[in-house]
Amino acid sequence: MDLVIARREGLYCPPGNFYIDPWRPVPHAVITHGHGDHARTGNGHYLAAAPGEGILRTRLGQDIDLQVLPYGQRLVHNGVTVSFHPAGHVLGSAQVRLEYQGEVWVASGDYKVEADGTCAAFEPVRCHTFITESTFGLPIYRWQAQQQVFEEINQWWRANIEAGRPSVLFAYAFGKAQRILHGIDASLGPILAHGAVEPLNRVYRAAGVELPPTLYATEFKKTDPTLRQALIIAPPSAAGSTWMRRFGQYSDGFASGWMRLRGTRRRRGVDRGFVLSDHADWPGLLWAIEQTGAERVMVTHGSVAVLARYLREQRGLDARGFDEAGMSEFERDDD
Ligand SMILES: [Zn+2]
Ligand SMILES: [Zn+2]
Repeated sequence: MDLVIARREGLYCPPGNFYIDPWRPVPHAVITHGHGDHARTGNGHYLAAAPGEGILRTRLGQDIDLQVLPYGQRLVHNGVTVSFHPAGHVLGSAQVRLEYQGEVWVASGDYKVEADGTCAAFEPVRCHTFITESTFGLPIYRWQAQQQVFEEINQWWRANIEAGRPSVLFAYAFGKAQRILHGIDASLGPILAHGAVEPLNRVYRAAGVELPPTLYATEFKKTDPTLRQALIIAPPSAAGSTWMRRFGQYSDGFASGWMRLRGTRRRRGVDRGFVLSDHADWPGLLWAIEQTGAERVMVTHGSVAVLARYLREQRGLDARGFDEAGMSEFERDDD
């Protein structure tokens, strides 16, 4: 019996009668993490990993009916044992382990195998069936060590300071922005955050994640000479907005795994692209899948056909794509 099936509302656990990251409102939602394509408003009851509570309440509303579980702690719901395990993707992100009548399934949610210090590191969980994401499930995706990327960002920032212009770095507001703040050399100059980023910085700090001090960009006077030494962290949606005018002549960059693709930087119209993703790359996906010991792998959320075929042909696994017809209408908000 399948412990997880695809339904119109999202991934569904029949014996447990709940959904995982449903894309339509349901009575019982188990949430892997707070990104917009996984955590949506309108569900009756939410169950999530405890470290993600602040994020979920900030994004979905303080008064949602939310129950949280520490990583590793088990809860039995309609006979199905549910537990959350670190996915290493963003603060509070979790893989969902389901056990029913001796069968163990793990739904990965989004995950990253390189530990980054802003959330609990990915932990492989043994299972019979693994539902894996595949956002960057193509062999061309191989990330550099993150320290090298942070060094590139520091060098760009330093060069801009020398040229007397602010550095505007576009990054997704939840996860990527905080990872950058945690990783860069904050001693170079002041750091300003967009209004979409700063509330999430506060949630991270409240959760004990070390981030350098940041100011709201609006708190800075246009005439302040230190503005030209500043690094400004803003969501991609701020590009081309009137909000940008206060920075005068600036250099801009974009941090995303998609920057690995030729032409992305040009299409985004930014000066610099930094390849930095909160998802596993191709070797990371293969490593994580192997660690689970699963004989059956369901691939979702990305390069489904390529990864499923590779797992069948090169690893001899029973691998197939999960039909996610309902998913495509929704925007992804992380990479
Ligand atoms: Zn995500
Ligand atoms: Zn996602």
